[in-house]
Amino acid sequence: MRIRYLSNTEEILEASRLLVRKPEDMRGRWLTLCPEARALAMEIGCGKGRFIGEMALQDPQTLFLGVEKFSTILARSIMNNEAEEPLRPNLRLIRSDALDLDEAFADGELDRLYLNFSDPWPKDRHAKRRLTSDRFLPLYARWLKRGGELHFKTDNDALFPWSVESLQQNGWKIMFRTDDWHACPEQKGDVMTEYEIQFSEAGKKIHKLTAVYEGSDASAL
Ligand code: SAH
Repeated sequence: MRIRYLSNTEEILEASRLLVRKPEDMRGRWLTLCPEARALAMEIGCGKGRFIGEMALQDPQTLFLGVEKFSTILARSIMNNEAEEPLRPNLRLIRSDALDLDEAFADGELDRLYLNFSDPWPKDRHAKRRLTSDRFLPLYARWLKRGGELHFKTDNDALFPWSVESLQQNGWKIMFRTDDWHACPEQKGDVMTEYEIQFSEAGKKIHKLTAVYEGSDASAL
């Protein structure tokens, strides 16, 4: 029965038409998945997939990848995004921890990277697990092309300044920064994530930054 079938995470993943099962096989040729696309963008920790699905709808010339490490959560994203017919040709989903995607991208293959409401991991001893820690930032720096932007939104008042510092210490330049994104004129038209809707409706201010990797050879840019 359909309900029972949909309640099974593994079966949802298996039947999915949006799931890329072996991302490392796409290294260097992601754009061949979508002939219309001229750029590649990715969200790490896409949750139930609202943001990445809406972004794909708004910008048909970019191929959007949503990465989520938990199968059960990704299954929700698959259900939400595969309910649309015809299927969005410029959207793909990946079940993976970001750390395991090192081999999945050639140097500079990515045009834009999104981190939205990433897990804060408040305890100091878990700091390396934060998606803005120095365990992850070198990966992003390699994947992104020169000038490629990292976009980060969070409600978390501790994670945000910590991330600014971590980025700066790892060779990133903060191009834009606000502690009240929804009060900024730039926010108009920005796609809201599931967490963003929840937190902003609860009256929480949203922090947002954009950063670009400059590295140690910034003078060569
Ligand atoms: N971006 C969504 C969900 C935020 S919750 C929103 O804004 O509504 C953070 C999500 O990131 C969770 O679903 C979590 O499972 C996922 N996540 C955390 N660490 C990850 C990692 N290392 N690789 C991939 N996904 C990760």
